[in-house]
Amino acid sequence: MYWHCCQQVAVAKAFTCPSTARAASATAQRSPRLCPSECTTSYHPSIMGTREEEYKAILARYLPQSAVEPIYKFISENRVQFKITPSRNSKLGDYRCPTPLHPNHEISVNGDLPQYFFLMVLLHEIAHLNTFLTFGRNVQPHGHEWQQQYRNLLIQYFNGGHFPPECYPLFKNYTSHIPLNRAAGQALEQTLKRYGLPENKEQYMILSELPLGTRFRLKTKPERVFKSIEKRRTRYLCEDVHTTLRYLVNGSAEVIKC
Ligand SMILES: [Zn+2]
Repeated sequence: MYWHCCQQVAVAKAFTCPSTARAASATAQRSPRLCPSECTTSYHPSIMGTREEEYKAILARYLPQSAVEPIYKFISENRVQFKITPSRNSKLGDYRCPTPLHPNHEISVNGDLPQYFFLMVLLHEIAHLNTFLTFGRNVQPHGHEWQQQYRNLLIQYFNGGHFPPECYPLFKNYTSHIPLNRAAGQALEQTLKRYGLPENKEQYMILSELPLGTRFRLKTKPERVFKSIEKRRTRYLCEDVHTTLRYLVNGSAEVIKC
């Protein structure tokens, strides 16, 4: 089923873009909030470096690896409040333009989407952001202006090697002209949905994504089981459940939930 963001509705004060189709599958439910202004994590020297690295580590769980850098750059430069949500029946993603109450651009994408389809949905929402920046609110949500922005992004990311090359003919069909061909878009997204997450992306999580009290194993020390006790700025006080010894572990450490 072809998915749509936004019914053709003009909103007086703030343009929002709720996608309306159901996500294809319900896998792990993860909901990290990716907002540069809210990330305060620093790192254990043996594991990491900067909070930028934690942000990218989270993005890498949902996006094709090669797309992490350009997406991070875009989000940072535009101060986008980016939220990865649990699966929503009502939509795959949305965009909200800045308002006096919420001065940042806001984008959300369902976290259960396969990585290439996740990227496609994210680009759909970024196209809304770019359309807002270029034309303001007085254009149709999925009108000519948005389609041009979306097409440009798809071309940029396909040519950048961020999508599977074997999808290129479908991509070419979809982006060959404006207005975008709906059936061609449907064929492209159905194909992209078949590319799942790599196995390790399903298995490993980032410590900061786990609720406090969750038992986990560190990727680097899988033989030991820890439990997070409290957050201390950028690190977490964790206890070895067998020895009761306590350690500070960086929030971006890769872990396996027990
Ligand atoms: Zn939309």
